[in-house]
Amino acid sequence: MIAEVIVDIAHSDVDKIFDYGCEDTVTAGMRVVVPFGRSTTTGFVMSVKETSAVPKDKLKNVYRCPDRGAALNDECLALAKKIAQRYRVPLALSLRLFLPAEMRTGKVSETYSNVAYLTGEMPVFSKTARAQAALFAYLQERGEVPTGELRESFGAALDALVKKGVVAVKKVRRLRDPYRGESGEQPLRTLTAAQQNAVDGITSTEKTVTLLHGVTGSGKTEVYLTLIAQALKEGRTAVFLVPEISLTPQMLMQLRARFGRSAAILHSGLSAGERFDEWQRLREGEAKIAIGARSAVFAPLEKIGVIVIDEEHDGSYLSESSPRYNTFDIAYLRAKYNGCKLVLGSATPSVETYKRAKDGEFFLLNLPDRINARPLPSVSIVDMRREVGRGNASGFSALLREKLETCLASGNQAILFLNRRGYSQTVICRDCGYVAKCEHCDVSLTYHAEEDCLKCHYCGTRYKMLRSCPECGGVHVRYTGTGTQRVVSELKKIYPSARVLRMDVDTTSGKEGHFKILKRFADREADILVGTQMVAKGHDFPSVTLVGVLDADMSLHFPDYRSGERTFQLVTQVAGRSGRARDRGEVVLQTYDPENYILRFAAHYDYTGFYEHEISMRAATLFPPYAKIVRVLVSGEDERETLGALKEVYEKLHAIYLADTEKFLFFNKMHAPVKRIQNKHRYQVLMRLADTGILKEIYDVCAECKYKNVLVYTEENPSNLS
Ligand code: ADP
Ligand code: ZN
Repeated sequence: MIAEVIVDIAHSDVDKIFDYGCEDTVTAGMRVVVPFGRSTTTGFVMSVKETSAVPKDKLKNVYRCPDRGAALNDECLALAKKIAQRYRVPLALSLRLFLPAEMRTGKVSETYSNVAYLTGEMPVFSKTARAQAALFAYLQERGEVPTGELRESFGAALDALVKKGVVAVKKVRRLRDPYRGESGEQPLRTLTAAQQNAVDGITSTEKTVTLLHGVTGSGKTEVYLTLIAQALKEGRTAVFLVPEISLTPQMLMQLRARFGRSAAILHSGLSAGERFDEWQRLREGEAKIAIGARSAVFAPLEKIGVIVIDEEHDGSYLSESSPRYNTFDIAYLRAKYNGCKLVLGSATPSVETYKRAKDGEFFLLNLPDRINARPLPSVSIVDMRREVGRGNASGFSALLREKLETCLASGNQAILFLNRRGYSQTVICRDCGYVAKCEHCDVSLTYHAEEDCLKCHYCGTRYKMLRSCPECGGVHVRYTGTGTQRVVSELKKIYPSARVLRMDVDTTSGKEGHFKILKRFADREADILVGTQMVAKGHDFPSVTLVGVLDADMSLHFPDYRSGERTFQLVTQVAGRSGRARDRGEVVLQTYDPENYILRFAAHYDYTGFYEHEISMRAATLFPPYAKIVRVLVSGEDERETLGALKEVYEKLHAIYLADTEKFLFFNKMHAPVKRIQNKHRYQVLMRLADTGILKEIYDVCAECKYKNVLVYTEENPSNLS
C-alpha cells in the first residue's frame, strides 16, 4: 500500500503530499515515522492508496507507526485541511492542533505498571507457606493488584507463586488521573422552569447555534450539564469549552461528581503526562466529554452530541498563535459535521454574537433572573474626582471603605478588582475627567514614554504629550494606573488585621497557580481578594458580598474600539461575583467618568440598552461587526531586513487596495504599538475592510511573502492590538 504523508515540518516548502510504501495496517489519520532527506521525521497519513506515481526504486517506506491506531479521525483530518486553507498555513501546522504537544515531541508516552492475577486453582500450601496462602486469598478478593504493592506486603511469596504457575504478571496501562481523590458532592437538582425551557428550546430549535443569554447566577451551567447528560444518554459525546480561568477546582469537582471518569479535562494546569492520558482516554472512547479551554475544541471525539462555549465573549477564544483561528468557527464546523447543537452562553454576549442572534442567524434564549429570584447586587457609582477634591488621594473612596468595613465585620469576604492590562497607560485629567482621544478614531490615546508623545493605535496619528488639560486647563494630568501590588500594600496599612490575597499574572504562575489562590480564598484563608480580570470570571464564592471596582476607567479608555464592550463585560462579570448566596451583594464602582453611558448601563444590568447604544455607534463609525479589522504584522530581529520585508508586503497589499479601494475603509502601514518584543522589531499594515471578500487575497499575499528571518502573519479583529 501507499501512504500519502504530510511531514510534520511546518514550512511551506514541504507543505505537500509525499508518497511512502506501507503495510496494509496503515490507515488515514495515523502518525508515521518516515525517512526524509537525510534524516527521519514524523508525519501524518492523509490517505492510503494502491499505487504511486513515484518510481519503485525511488519510493521509500514508512519505518513505523508510533501510536496505537489513528491519532486523527476522518472529521479531524478534513477539518485540518479546511483550517490550513482558510488561514493559509502549512497543513502540518493545522494538523498539530489536534494532538497534545507532548505527543508530537515524544516527551511523554503511555505508562505501564505490572499487575499480578490468579491463573490457577488453590494449591495445597505447606504449613510454612503462610505468606503464600495469604497472598492467594488477597488476590482472590482483589483481582488484579500491582506487583509493587504485593511485594511490600507479602515479600518473596509473590515470586514463589509465579514460579508455581498459580499467579501470573502482566503489564497494564496506567493512566495519570489529574483529579484523583477529588470528588465533590453533586446534589441532583431539578431544573427550574426557566432552565427546562432553555433546554427544550435548544433541543428543538432548527438552528444549529443558540445564544443563551443569562444573567450571572441564572443557572446556565446546569443547562449545559443537562444537555451534556442528554448527549451521553443518546450514546453521543460532548465538548464543553470554558475560558482557562474558569476551570476552577469547584467547577472541576462539580463535573467529576456529575460525570465521573466520563469527563476528560484538558488544561494548562495539568502535567504533560496527565494531559496526554486525558487525550488518550477521549481518543479511545473511554471518556466522552472533553472539557477545556479553547484547544479542547480539537478533542479527538466522534459522534459529538453537543458543543458548549461558555462565556462566549471571552477574548481567550481567539488564538494568538498561528493559525489564528476563532474557536467559534471551528466549533461551528464540528457542529455541522456532527449534526449537533452549538450553545454559546454568556451574561454579556459579545456585540457581534448578539447581533447575529438578533438578526435571526442564531436562536436567542434568555435567562433574565437569578436562581431562586436572588437579587442582583446593587451597584453604587462613586465619582473619584470628588474624592480627589476632598483630599483623598488613596485608591479607596470613602464609600468603599465604609462598605469594606461592614463586610469584614459581618464575617463576609470582598473582591477588589483592578483592571490593569497591557503595557499602556491612558492620559486622564484628574480635575475634569478629560481623556485624550484621537481626532480620527473614537479611541483614546496611549502615552509612549520613550518618545514622550501620545499615539492612536488605530491610525498611527501622533499627538504632543499634554502638559495641561485642553478642557479645563487643569494641570493634574495623570497616567492612570496603580497596580494590584500597591493596592495590597495600601490595604494592609488601612486594615492591618485583614487577610489579603493577590491574584494576577505575577502570583499565579506555576502549576495550578490560579487554582491554589482561588482555593485558598474559597477555603476562607483570606478576607479580601485583590486581582486583575482573572478574578472576574465564573467563580462562585458564597461568602462574597462586596465587590469593588477600583478603577473602571482603566479599561474604558483602553485604546481599542471594543473598550466599551470590554468594560461592560468586566463590570457585569465582576459584579456577578457578589451576593450569590444568602446575603445580598453590593458593588462599588469607582470612576472619574460617572456619567459614562457604559458604566450606567452596567450599573443597571441593562444589556439591551448597552447593546443598542453600542451597535448604533459601531454602525455610524463603521467598526466591527460592520467592518473587519485586519492587520498584517511583520516582525524580525534585524531592523533593515524587517523593513525590507514590510516594503514588499506593503506593496503587494497596496496593489490589492488600489484595485478595490472601495472595499477598504482604512489602509496604512506603521510601527506596531509595541515596537519591539523580545528583540523583534514590529511593523504592521493595518486595514479596516468594508467587504471581507478581499480577505482571501490578503492571506494569499502573506503566504507568498516568506522570509528566513522575518515573520509575516495576518490577524482578523485581533483581541490584542499591541
Ligand atoms: P451562571 O452560570 O448562570 O452564572 P450558575 O450555573 O453558577 O449560574 O448557578 C448559580 C447558582 O445557582 C449556583 O450556586 C448553582 O449551584 C445554583 N443552581 C443552579 N441551578 C439550580 C437549580 N435548578 N436549583 C437550585 N440551585 C441551582
Ligand atoms: Zn486615530
